[in-house]
Amino acid sequence: MKEKTAETVWKNCLKVIQDNVSPQNFTTWFEPIKALKLHDNILNIQVPSQFFYEWLEEHYIGILKKVIKKELGAEGKIEYSIVMDNGTGKTEKAVMLKVPNINTNLKNSPVNMPIDVSGGAIRNPFIIPGLKKVSVESQLNPNYSFENFVEGDCNRLARSAGFAVAQKPGGTAFNPLLLYGGVGLGKTHLAQAIGIEIKKNFPNKTVLYVQSEKFIAQFIDAIKNNNQNDFVHFYQMIDILIIDDIQYLAGKEKTQDVFFHIFNHLHQLGKQIILTSDRAPVEMQGIEQRLLSRFKWGLSADLQTPGLETRIAILEKKVYNEGIQLPKEVCEYLAYSITSNVRELEGALISLLAQSSLNKKVITLDLAKQMIDKFVKSTAREVSIDYIQKVVCDYFDLNIDLMKSKTRKREVVQARQIAMYFAKSMTKSSLATIGMHCGGKDHATVLHACRTVNNLMDTDKRFKAYIEELDKKISINN
Ligand code: ADP
Ligand code: MG
Repeated sequence: MKEKTAETVWKNCLKVIQDNVSPQNFTTWFEPIKALKLHDNILNIQVPSQFFYEWLEEHYIGILKKVIKKELGAEGKIEYSIVMDNGTGKTEKAVMLKVPNINTNLKNSPVNMPIDVSGGAIRNPFIIPGLKKVSVESQLNPNYSFENFVEGDCNRLARSAGFAVAQKPGGTAFNPLLLYGGVGLGKTHLAQAIGIEIKKNFPNKTVLYVQSEKFIAQFIDAIKNNNQNDFVHFYQMIDILIIDDIQYLAGKEKTQDVFFHIFNHLHQLGKQIILTSDRAPVEMQGIEQRLLSRFKWGLSADLQTPGLETRIAILEKKVYNEGIQLPKEVCEYLAYSITSNVRELEGALISLLAQSSLNKKVITLDLAKQMIDKFVKSTAREVSIDYIQKVVCDYFDLNIDLMKSKTRKREVVQARQIAMYFAKSMTKSSLATIGMHCGGKDHATVLHACRTVNNLMDTDKRFKAYIEELDKKISINN
């Protein structure tokens, strides 16, 4: 039997690989590889770069594992030699990088960090000390994807800037990208969506999401353990750094200082930085001027409270993703009643689902009303003018846009007066505000409407019955 050599073994491997990958991928990823040595069932192959090696490990570990097993048996291993080209065509340095056991399934494991093979490994603050492997888990939540992020007027700029960044990290003017806005408006979701999208588009890039509190805690640990350099180096190796809620850095001068250096390093290398904050840069207190001015290098985009349509769309998406049925009227009721932010909206939906499944009750409008009443009590909830208008319009089968318009058509005028009457008795809104919502009328018109409705109730039994019925429909306590 002919003696096995590195070349013959690799040739046999290539035959199988060629049948299993596309011709283009074969040319790109396998033809440049040279078989160097074979010793003790370890096949040493030469690859042109660190990136190349990582790509193989990420995408072709399965097939490589198979062919090596076939050729060299269960004990077979691959060893990579990374030979970097310094641009003159000459090789600059050859680095041996052992993959100790190709049997470990690296497919689902994090991307390997460019390991500093010359010195000791850099400590990764995300892993327990003692673990040798330097690797980065992106810390991303797969649910926070762009697919699950509903676009609306409230977030259009931020979303599209984020999407642009995800197509070209570090390659747009949006660096850093600072997303800011109130609590529960989707900053974390959007920042993570960018990370997820980048990982999808550029699997070899190292993406890291970290909350500021964690960043601060890691830094304090690093000081304690006297390995601040490791901390800095670790962060300086990231390609896409996402830091959430940077307002927590306020007043933390040392952390700001170290972040400043990390920021400069990454920015200079064209790495992408994504930050979130609960307020605009101009309102950030306790953050050093030199950092603030850097935040302005890129783009600051704000997230605002979603409007009614977006709230409905968000609820519908969640309901769809959960695979549950929710009557349309319930969905609308939630969207009309909870206007503060998306997190509360989601919380209400979740409580409603829990209520219905625990008590084995069907989700009805009544159940939703009861639940919302408990759920949002703390914020001294009241029905909104919008909701009153909607119920009144549904009742009289009118288009809500007509009610909000200036039209003086008889049937519209009466419905509008009724809506004004309920808005006055059920909300704390001023007459002027109510008027503004109902066709841009002034406070005197609203006052007149309330009197008219009261008079009609006294004189017209049928009218009174309408009002009582509507009262029940609008009222949140029954
Ligand atoms: P923030 O970080 O601004 O406080 P989050 O990103 O944590 O807010 O958002 C709160 C919740 O609302 C999350 O569950 C998120 O998925 C959801 N959410 C926010 N905005 C949207 C949106 N536009 N589409 C879908 N879900 C959203
Ligand atoms: Mg957040």
